Parts: sequence; C-alpha cells; structure tokens
Amino acid sequence: MTRIDHPESLKRLAVQLRRLPGIGPRGAERIALWLLGGKDRTRSSELASAMLQAAESVRPCPECGFLTDTAQCAICADETRASGPLCVVEEATDILPLERTGAFRGRYHALGGRLAPLDHVGPEDLRIPGLLNRCRTTPAPSEVILALSADVEGEATAHYLAELLHAEFPRLPITRIAQGLPAGGGLESADELTLSRALSGRTQMN
Ligand SMILES: [Zn+2]
Repeated sequence: MTRIDHPESLKRLAVQLRRLPGIGPRGAERIALWLLGGKDRTRSSELASAMLQAAESVRPCPECGFLTDTAQCAICADETRASGPLCVVEEATDILPLERTGAFRGRYHALGGRLAPLDHVGPEDLRIPGLLNRCRTTPAPSEVILALSADVEGEATAHYLAELLHAEFPRLPITRIAQGLPAGGGLESADELTLSRALSGRTQMN
C-alpha cells in the first residue's frame, strides 16, 4: 500500500525551509503549510519578494563592514560620530548589540572573522588593510577599542592587531573591553548591562 504523504512541491518547500537555522522537520512542515494558506494566498509571494530584494540590496558597508542597502551604512554616514573612538569587532552582527547599550557613540570596524589557524583563517582573510587605512585617514580615530571574543582565537586576534597598530601608530591608544564578547556571534546572549560595563571598564594594551 502506498504511504500517503504531502505533494512533491510541498515537500520540496519543506526541505528548503529545514535549511533555515533553528528549524526542524516539524517546524518546516508547519511553515510550509502556513505559507500556502491565508485568504488570498499572498504569503509566499510576499516572503519570496522580500527575500530576493534583501539578497540583492543588502551588502557590507565598504568602510566598516556593517550591513547596508545604501552606498554607506547609517553609522558611517552619521557626521556626529566623526573622528571619535573606533570599535573593532569580529562580525558585522556584533555591532547592533553594542550599539543598543548606548554606551558607545563612535564608529565600528567589522573584521569579518578572527584569526583561526586551524580553520586556515589568516590575517589576509580579514578586513585588516581597511582598518589600517582608517587609522591613516584624517581625522584619525582617537582610540581603537578591540571588542573581540573571549576565547583563544579572539585573544590571539586582539594581540596581533594591537602589535600591528602600535608598530605603525605608536601614539594611538589601543584598548580592549573588560570582558571579551561571548564567542561565536552569541552577542544576543550578553545583556546590555554586561556589554556596557565591558566597554566602560576597558584597559589599555599599549
Ligand atoms: Zn559603515
């Protein structure tokens, strides 16, 4: 006897949805059925068009690496932040949690990762030339704050950057936040108070 299942196209949709982070087989099936429901059945076309539009227009800001759908991100475009401290983070997704603390009004620079020799991630894979260029440009940052994760790779990256920056800009203060950020882009799990304390309790590295 044939085992009755959903139609092929519905199963294909569920397979795609299962690829989304945090979605299991049951969840994928529920979302697929929801997408096909509704009175005028526009849920799937609205979702599809929002996805295509975002995929086409959202890019890393050429200056800092934060996400933007214009030529320059909202932080770099904000004139009131000019020439202040520059906060270096690993990923663009680390910026908003720091921004939400309200404890920092400078600019950011997302490296796009951290040094991880075991995963073959070297300095050439990170946005380090861009960081050096920003320190060379007038007005130069008043301070570089390293807000990297608290694990071995984050530490190694912080020390590498501190040495590199100090060699070229010996008078530029280089600081690190008091506690490193939780590793693996888990910044949402760090509450705002912890983050703002980490920022205000930063220590000088050079
Ligand atoms: Zn930017």
